Amino acid sequence: MYGDPVSVPIREDFPVGATTNPYGTSKYMIERILQDLCISDEKWKVVILRYFNPVGAHVSGTIGEDPNGIPNNLMPFISQVSVGKREFLSVFGDDYDTKDGTGVRDYIHVVDLANAHVKALNYLNSEKFNIKNSTFNIGTGIGYSVLDMVKVYEKASGRQVPYKIVNTRAGDIAKCYADPSLAKEILDWKAHKTIEDMCKDSYKWQSKNPNGYDA
Ligand code: UDP
Repeated sequence: MYGDPVSVPIREDFPVGATTNPYGTSKYMIERILQDLCISDEKWKVVILRYFNPVGAHVSGTIGEDPNGIPNNLMPFISQVSVGKREFLSVFGDDYDTKDGTGVRDYIHVVDLANAHVKALNYLNSEKFNIKNSTFNIGTGIGYSVLDMVKVYEKASGRQVPYKIVNTRAGDIAKCYADPSLAKEILDWKAHKTIEDMCKDSYKWQSKNPNGYDA
């Protein structure tokens, strides 16, 4: 939605639409459709949640992420390396303007994300609902680099995650993390799970299901 932001943390009132890849553009288009729908027919009430980078798994280890083919996203790729399904992680670039040169993102545990939906539904059905306050960043507000994620994952899993630095990926940006304070103020929602929880739960699922749901 926000493309390459002028600064971080990103607030909901930052410019949107100058997306850097088709996935971002698809999110922008859907927000526009939902906004137009609400204007055209007032019986519609919509809350928009702008997810940052959802990761992790249910703490039971029974519900997790099993992407088709080679994972595009960082966390499932790290998980598959940790159980030996893939040899090494390719780190896409180490000369971004970040603390260690690798991309920085706002990772959010899927269970915190699920809770944000419950809070959003409560808000939608409450007297407090106001169309002017209906778009929310859903993130922790903390940015972690790719190498941070590798280190925390190794500690949480007790497994090594070998990596190689490779070229940057087209459409990637240096830094993206949320200012989630509007969600706290209006929805009474904030993230509780730490990056360690995210890595621990992700590994739990992956180690119980090394070949995904088919196994
Ligand atoms: N990334 C990486 N190797 C991978 C996948 C992702 O280095 O195999 C990096 C990517 O460049 C970005 C971060 O990890 O800095 C998160 O990427 P992801 O695809 O998970 O989410 P995005 O923020 O791109 O939607």
